[in-house]
Amino acid sequence: MEIRITGLRKHYASEGRVIKALDDVDLTIPANQIFTLLGPSGCGKTTLLRSIVGLESPDAGEIRIGDEIVYSSAQRINVPTENRGLGMVFQTYAIWPHMNVFDNVAYPLQNRKVDKEEIRRRVSETLAFVQLEGFEKRPATKLSGGQQQRVALARALVAQPKVILFDEPLSNLDAKLREETRKELKRFLYNLQITAVYVTHDRVEALALSDTIAVMRAGRIIETGSPKKIYFEAESEFVADFIGRANLVKATIREQTAEHTIVDSALGRLTCRKADLPTGTPVTLCLRPEFISVGAAERQGVNTVNGTVASLVFVGDAYEGEITVGDQLLLAHIDPDSTLQEGDAVGFLLDPDHCLLVAR
Ligand code: ATP
Repeated sequence: MEIRITGLRKHYASEGRVIKALDDVDLTIPANQIFTLLGPSGCGKTTLLRSIVGLESPDAGEIRIGDEIVYSSAQRINVPTENRGLGMVFQTYAIWPHMNVFDNVAYPLQNRKVDKEEIRRRVSETLAFVQLEGFEKRPATKLSGGQQQRVALARALVAQPKVILFDEPLSNLDAKLREETRKELKRFLYNLQITAVYVTHDRVEALALSDTIAVMRAGRIIETGSPKKIYFEAESEFVADFIGRANLVKATIREQTAEHTIVDSALGRLTCRKADLPTGTPVTLCLRPEFISVGAAERQGVNTVNGTVASLVFVGDAYEGEITVGDQLLLAHIDPDSTLQEGDAVGFLLDPDHCLLVAR
C-alpha cells in the first residue's frame, strides 16, 4: 500500500529553543517496497516514522495510507494508531520477557479479542514464516538476539498489517548476526510483498536492504533514489559523503564536452562525469576510495594524478592508503598484495565516470 505524505511539520520546544524535527516533508513511499529513511542522528527519522504510525501528533500536513487519510491538520483527522492497520518493530524489540514466544506473538490478536482457535492458527503460521516453528513454549528470555528479532517481526506481522515499520531493528545485534538477520529480513519482506518503512542511520544497512532510500537532514528529505543512484549519483556533497566514504575536492567547471565535464581542481585538470552546470561554477569533486586505483609509478596523460603514499593501513581485503597530492590528502583502496611503502611516489588514473561533480 502506498503512503503519501504532504507538507508534514513537527516542532519541539526544548529549553527555550524551537527544534524543527519535520520541516515541510513531502514524500511518497511506493507500495510493496522496502523504503529506508536514512540520516544522521537527530535529523527527524524517528519523528517521521512515529507520525506515520500515529504515536506522534504532527503540527501540520497530511498522511495517507492507501486511500485513507490517517492524519490531516486541515480536516482535523487523526486516526488512532490501533486503527491504522500497521505493524511496528522497534530497536529494543519490545518483546515481553515474562511471556513465552506464543504469547508474545499472540498478544496483538488477543488484544483484539480474536477467537482462540484463529489465534492459534495465525500464530503458528506466522512463526513458521519467520522460521520459529516449535519455539512456541520457549521463554522469550531464552532466545538469541536474532531469534528475539524474529519474534518481534512475527508479532508485527501476525495481525496482517498493510504496512510494516521498523525503527533501527538490528542495532542491538553484533556485526555478524546483523548481516545475517538483514539478509533474512529482506527475504521475508520480499516474500510478503508488503510496504516496509525502515529507519536507520547505518548507510551499509540502507544500501543492502532498500529498494529506495530517502536521505534526511535537519527535518527535511534532501534526496530520494535507489541505493545505486544515491551512492553513484548523489546530488549533493552531504549525501555523497554520508552514504559512503568520499574524497571531496574543490573544483571549478571549465568546459563541457559532448559526454563529459572538464574541471580545474586541486588535483589538476580532470575529465569528469557530465554535470550540466555553467563554466565557472564552483563544484565539489567526489571520488570514492575504491575507484582510485593506485600504481607503483608516476603516470602521464589525461586524468592522471601523481602523489606520495602518506600512510598505509592493512584492513584484510585492502590497504587503506592516504595519498598526498599537493595540499590534498586522498583516501584510496590499495591492493592487499601491494608492496608499496609509506613515502613511495605513486600515480593513479581517475575514471571520468567515477568523478562525480556536485554544486557547492
Ligand atoms: P536518532 O537517529 O538519534 O534516533 P532521529 O533522526 O530519529 O535521531 P528524531 O528522534 O526524530 O531524530 O529527533 C529529531 C529532532 O527532534 C532532534 O533534534 C531531537 O532532539 C528532537 N526531539 C525528538 N523528540 C523530542 C521531544 N520529545 N522533545 C524535544 N525534542 C525532541
